[in-house]
Amino acid sequence: MKYIDSYYSRTLGSALDAAPLDEDLDTQVCVIGGGLAGISTALGLTERGVNCVLLEANQVGWGASGRNGGFVSCGFSQSALKLARLLGEDHARSLYGLTSDALALIQKRIQGHEQSIQQPDTGTVTASWFDDESGVKHYVDEMNRLFDVELEFWPRERVNASYLTERYFDGFLKATTKRFHSLEYVLHTARMALAKGARLFEQTTVDRVVKDGQRWCVYTASGKVSADHVVYACSGYIGNLQPALSRATLPVATYVLLTEPLGDRLEQAIKSPYAVSDNRFSSNYYRVVGDKQLLWGGRVSMFHPSQERLKSIMLGDLLSVYPQLNGIKAEVAWGGFMGYARHKMPQIGQLKPGQWYCQGFGGHGMATTTMGGELIAAAIGQKDDRYRLFAPFGLSYVGKPFGPLIAQLAYWSYQLQDALQVSRLNRKF
Ligand SMILES: Cc1cc2nc3c(=O)[nH]c(=O)nc-3n(C[C@H](O)[C@H](O)[C@H](O)COP(=O)(O)OP(=O)(O)OC[C@H]3O[C@@H](n4cnc5c(N)ncnc54)[C@H](O)[C@@H]3O)c2cc1C
Repeated sequence: MKYIDSYYSRTLGSALDAAPLDEDLDTQVCVIGGGLAGISTALGLTERGVNCVLLEANQVGWGASGRNGGFVSCGFSQSALKLARLLGEDHARSLYGLTSDALALIQKRIQGHEQSIQQPDTGTVTASWFDDESGVKHYVDEMNRLFDVELEFWPRERVNASYLTERYFDGFLKATTKRFHSLEYVLHTARMALAKGARLFEQTTVDRVVKDGQRWCVYTASGKVSADHVVYACSGYIGNLQPALSRATLPVATYVLLTEPLGDRLEQAIKSPYAVSDNRFSSNYYRVVGDKQLLWGGRVSMFHPSQERLKSIMLGDLLSVYPQLNGIKAEVAWGGFMGYARHKMPQIGQLKPGQWYCQGFGGHGMATTTMGGELIAAAIGQKDDRYRLFAPFGLSYVGKPFGPLIAQLAYWSYQLQDALQVSRLNRKF
C-alpha cells in the first residue's frame, strides 16, 4: 500500500520507491518492518558493520512512524516517576538515560538535513487541565531531581497568557522536545542505512519465519531471506506473524487533524512558540506547522470513523479548547495504529537465540525506537546486553481477541477519570 493522505505525505519531498524482494538472499540479519524501529535497527547494524536486509510490507514509514504527531522527546509512555517507584531510582535513571542518548543520536543523524526534518522551534508546554498547582510543582521537582531534565514550572498566569483558553491551569516547559516531519525523518534514516549497505525492500510482506538449523528463513510471496538473526519490528501491524509477539501487542488507533491555514486567527488562540500537550489521561497535543496551521492529535479508539467524521470529531476537540476559533475548517485528518504493551513500555529482547523483537513503542516512539534499534544492533553486533534493562516488562498477554475492546473501555474510563478529577479539583467550571 502507498502512504495514506496526511500532512506528511502531502509535504513529502520524495519517497524511497524501493523494489519488492524477488529473489532469495543470504544475510546476517533480517529485519521485518520498515517503521522507525526497524529502520533504526537496520541503521544501527550497518553502522556496526553487520549486513542486513529489511522487508517492509508497504512503504518505509507507512505505519505509525510516518504519520504521527512529530513530537520527539525523552521518556516513555509509562510515567518516569512510576518507573522509579517500581524499579528503583537507579534502574529508572538508566532507562531514562537511554532515551536521552537516543535524542542526542537523532540530532547527530539529522545534521545537515535539519531544514527538511526539524522545525526550528523546540520545546513543549504541558498544560494542566486540573486546578492542582502543588501537584504540577511536585511533578516538576521530582522529575528534575531524579532525571535532571530541567523542566520549568509555568504558573497559570503565564500559561493563560500564552494559550488563550479557559481549560488550562499551571504547566511546565520541557525545552528539549523537538518537532519533526516524521515521514521525512524515517526516509532520511532509511537512506542513511542504504548508504551504509543495508538492503531494503518495500511492498514485501513477510508471511512466515521458520527456524532452519542455526539460522532463520524469512518467507515472502516472491522470495526468501536466510539469516543468522531475525528482528521483528512490526508494531501494531504485526497481525498473527509471531504468536508470542502478536498476543503481547495491542494495536491502538489514534488520530491527527490538520487545519486549514489560520492566518491572523491563530493568534486569537496561541501566542507562544512552544508546542502543547495537556496532562489528562486522554490528552490532546498540538503544534503549529506549515502556513499557520494547527496539527492537532489525540484520542484512541477501536472504531474507524470516516475521513469526514474524523475531521468533525477532532475539530470538535480543538474547539472545546479554543471556542474562539469556531468556523475554521479541517484540511485532512488521519489515524494510525500504535503497538501498545500492557505495561506501556517498549518490548525489546530475544525470544530464542537469534530471534529478536523491538516493538511496543505506543505513545512515545519517535525517540524510543532509535533507542530500541541501538540496543538490538549493539546486542547482535557487539554482544552488548543493555537490552536486558527491559527484561522486567516482558511480553504479557493483552487480552486478544478482546484487546481492542479493552483498550476502548480503558480510554473511556480514562475520560471518566479526567472528568471526575476536573469536578474534584477545578472550581473554574
Ligand atoms: C497518530 C499517531 C500519533 C503519534 N504521535 C507521536 C508523537 O508525536 N511522538 C511520538 O514519540 N510518538 C508518537 N506516536 C507513536 C509512534 O509513531 C510509534 O510508537 C512509532 O512510530 C512506532 O514505530 P514502529 O517502527 O514500531 O512501528 P510502525 O511505524 O507502525 O512500523 C511497523 C511497520 O511494520 C510493517 N509490517 C508489519 N507487519 C509486517 C510484515 N508481516 N512484513 C513486513 N512488514 C510488516 C508495517 O507495514 C509498518 O510499516 C504516534 C502514533 C500515531 C499512530
